[in-house]
Amino acid sequence: MAAYRGRFAPSPTGPLHDGSLVAALASWLDARAHGGQWLVRIEDVDGPRCQAGTGELILGQLAALGLVPDEPPAWQSQRGTLYQAALKRLIASGHAYGCACTRAEIAAAAGPRPKHGELIYPGTCRHGTNGRPVRAWRFRVDGCVHWQDRRLGAQSQDLETEVGDFVLKRADGLWAYQLAVVVDDAAQGITDVVRGEDLADNTPRQIALQRALGLPKPRYLHTPLVLAADGHKLSKQNGAAAIDLGDPPARLREALRHLGLHLDSGSPTAAELLAAAARQWPQGV
Ligand code: GLU
Repeated sequence: MAAYRGRFAPSPTGPLHDGSLVAALASWLDARAHGGQWLVRIEDVDGPRCQAGTGELILGQLAALGLVPDEPPAWQSQRGTLYQAALKRLIASGHAYGCACTRAEIAAAAGPRPKHGELIYPGTCRHGTNGRPVRAWRFRVDGCVHWQDRRLGAQSQDLETEVGDFVLKRADGLWAYQLAVVVDDAAQGITDVVRGEDLADNTPRQIALQRALGLPKPRYLHTPLVLAADGHKLSKQNGAAAIDLGDPPARLREALRHLGLHLDSGSPTAAELLAAAARQWPQGV
């Protein structure tokens, strides 16, 4: 088994909030509890959704809480050549194909994804574009993916009926999250992905890509989401507030409680709290 390497991979669409802190902390604790390394990757691949300076802001927030990566952070906006090489391999092996469909054409022909309301691509260009220019590149899905989550247990998803052929490179030239995350996790030697449960549904697509590219599959642990008072997930999209850094140990204690670790006695510094929490983190989950 390769030496443990974990990561926190925020998209810089807004500052760290109480929900994303839980994911960051869980990945840090799991890495420390395994005597491993912890990396940070800024997923600024979706340029238009990212805010200038937010990646640096998140790194500063993490550092203020004592969460400092063991290697210089990676920035996805600088890694396009790696994604292009992976796409080229997928095209050559028949796993990826060019798609000429516009959004309106897909909407007219596709059914919604159960539970998500997104569209399942009807496979129009699976066997060629009939001379129409390629707009996007898609991954040809094939059957069901079974996988094991360290917290959620046995999981499965039928990619054909539940997801459909998904985009790898968008019509506007941007790289899709699914491809970038798989290429980077492998390139950075990530052995363990620890992230919020809202991302669990992406895992089968990522495993299918790993298989098609012949890349190793990391272990997965999806952590419980932090809900706002109205029951919705706390997220940047619904305006979650940036974490208040006036009292770092208090913020860490809250996030730790959410992860089932209660470290309330005494008034240790952030560093002492983190070290104590790493000792209590259930490595075996
Ligand atoms: N960048 C993704 C997000 O912030 C997370 C990616 C991951 O952890 O795999 O939602």
